[in-house]
Order: sequence, then C-alpha cells, then structure tokens
Amino acid sequence: MQEISFEVFRSKAETYGTADIAWHFHLLSPTCVFNIHPGHFALVLENETDGEQYYTLFDKNPLVESKKLAELSYGKGFLGTNPQTEVDNPAPNSKFEALLARAKACIAADIPWHNHDISPNCIFNSLPGKHCIVFEDDESKTPITAVYSHKPMADLVRIETLLYRDID
Ligand SMILES: [Zn+2]
Ligand SMILES: [Zn+2]
Repeated sequence: MQEISFEVFRSKAETYGTADIAWHFHLLSPTCVFNIHPGHFALVLENETDGEQYYTLFDKNPLVESKKLAELSYGKGFLGTNPQTEVDNPAPNSKFEALLARAKACIAADIPWHNHDISPNCIFNSLPGKHCIVFEDDESKTPITAVYSHKPMADLVRIETLLYRDID
C-alpha cells in the first residue's frame, strides 16, 4: 500500500469515478482495528478493479476530507436521501440498531467514534461476499459489526448523518 498526498488521493478517486472503476475508501482512527499506522488518522483508497491501494495520514480527524470522498463515492447530497425504498422489505438489522444507539451515546458523552463501510471485496473484509458496517469507539474498544447481503445504503446514510453532523 502506497502513501500519497490527499490531493493525489482525491484526484485518483475522481478519476476512478469518471473511468467507471469500482473504488471505495476508509477513514481510520489512530486506534482503529484496521489502522496500518497506529497513532495517526488515515484515509485508505482501494481501487477494486485493479487492486491498487493507497493511503494518506493525518494528525487530526480528516472528517472534512472524508465527507468529500463520501460524496464522490455515494453521490453528492447522499446524506439527504432516503434510500430505504431501494431495498425490498428490508428487515431491521439488530446489530446496526445497537451500533447506532452506541453512536448516539458516544456523541452525548463526547467519546470519539467512527464507522466503516466494508464492501464484499474490501481488503479489511473477513466475511467474503458480505457487506458490513463496522463501528468503533475509543471507550469500549470492541468493534460492533452489522452484516448484510446487500449494500446497506439506508443504514449508511443513518450512521454517516451522525458522523458528519458538524461538517458542512
Ligand atoms: Zn476503524
Ligand atoms: Zn476497503
């Protein structure tokens, strides 16, 4: 995995979008279970088509940069959408409801947290073929994983509306 600047990172993501190359990214905290450089925040970029992987490190939580990437990945304004209707009769995911409640409790108690959208072919996926939302906070240290057979866009919007609540 190669280190690049955020400017190059973002331009690669934009290029992937226009070239129809499948890609996704991750925001990793200094204590993230997936972190390749503990002690730093990181953004990780995965090109799913060619298998290329890149990262860029930050001293502060790069929520502004992460939200820009989320808008590139999911579509600008994705937080204002209601994609629940795209899935036929989605059953509530009890693990997701638990991690959403934990996120709200962390916000109330000012405990840092973050979440991951783990796609079926993600390098961090330990459940091949499944989609996962993984939640971590700095107090419990125990990740909560919600597993799905489809891309959980509705639940991603719900958790990321909280994640980016202070970012314009
Ligand atoms: Zn993490
Ligand atoms: Zn990934």
